[in-house]
Amino acid sequence: MDQFVNPESGTVPFYLPQGDECDVFAAAHRSCLPLLLKGPTGCGKTRFVAHMAAKLGRPLYTVACHDDLSAADLIGRYLLKGGETVWVDGPLTRAVREGAICYLDEVVEARKDVAVVLHPLTDDRRILPIDRTGEELQAGPGFMLVASYNPGYQNILKTLKPSTRQRFLSVEFGFPKPEHEVPVVIAESGLAEDRVRLLVRIAGKLRGLKGQDLEEGVSTRLVVYCATLIAQGMSFDRAVQVAMIEPLTDDAEVKRGLADLVTAVA
Ligand code: ADP
Repeated sequence: MDQFVNPESGTVPFYLPQGDECDVFAAAHRSCLPLLLKGPTGCGKTRFVAHMAAKLGRPLYTVACHDDLSAADLIGRYLLKGGETVWVDGPLTRAVREGAICYLDEVVEARKDVAVVLHPLTDDRRILPIDRTGEELQAGPGFMLVASYNPGYQNILKTLKPSTRQRFLSVEFGFPKPEHEVPVVIAESGLAEDRVRLLVRIAGKLRGLKGQDLEEGVSTRLVVYCATLIAQGMSFDRAVQVAMIEPLTDDAEVKRGLADLVTAVA
């Protein structure tokens, strides 16, 4: 589990808005409403939450959800410490106590009992019952629950139930338009603009193959990785191979097709 309080403490992490998502987040926080971010991996959701938490001056607890993550991992548990049994808050409980933002990344991955915990927190009760200690915490105005999920995986077993999903305001994220992606990649990698424009053009072509040969299009994260490698001296072709082709597929023929497409664009 990955949890942290504002990673770049004191500074606001760079985030270039794609639309009005910052206003929606701020309004949701003001109104004590939970927010769901929908979109593919690597398109800026985590960075957006870190940016907004810092802008709103709230601590941030991020939890990367996985299929073994249970309600107890979020709420807390009794642990043996120096021969004594002590209660240790989980990240969700800490966020409620501190009036922080709690970000559950890829929430559909978590075990089913997590939804049970989230329900009383995401309606107007805003309470977190802790059965093990007998406490019932009332979330204050600073607390906000943010969750993300990737509808693109098309895994019918792992989709959000309407009863959970309809408790959240939702914002859809997509891969940024070139005019947004170019400045993001330049800011993150320091690579020269003409090279970045070419990489973003290649990324656009590769994304066009989603659904035919590829399950997911190349993420902005991978474009940033690729640009960073080139800025550090790796050859253009090798960087594209390791950052924008190999991560997308294991199929040799598809890889060759992607490489040909890159050559045609470059
Ligand atoms: P997600 O949470 O959607 O999987 P991230 O937030 O981790 O994706 O984004 C991956 C990387 O892409 C970030 O570390 C950042 O470098 C870059 N990025 C994507 N979109 C933006 C944006 N709008 N502003 C700034 N950086 C961005």
